[in-house]
Amino acid sequence: MMRLAHILDGLRCSCCGALDVLWLDPVRGIVECHECGQKATVIVDGLDLVDALDGCGGDW
Ligand SMILES: [Zn+2]
Repeated sequence: MMRLAHILDGLRCSCCGALDVLWLDPVRGIVECHECGQKATVIVDGLDLVDALDGCGGDW
């Protein structure tokens, strides 16, 4: 079983501000920041919506 994760080039995590650390997991429909661990649900339909990474601090 193989899962593809795409790094989201040129996108900045709205939580920690790091660049190019966001990974899109299309299987689960989430974006994860490898810098701060922030996760966000996305609609894989349109990658423009990845900007919705605004749930900073919600999990902890
Ligand atoms: Zn982050």
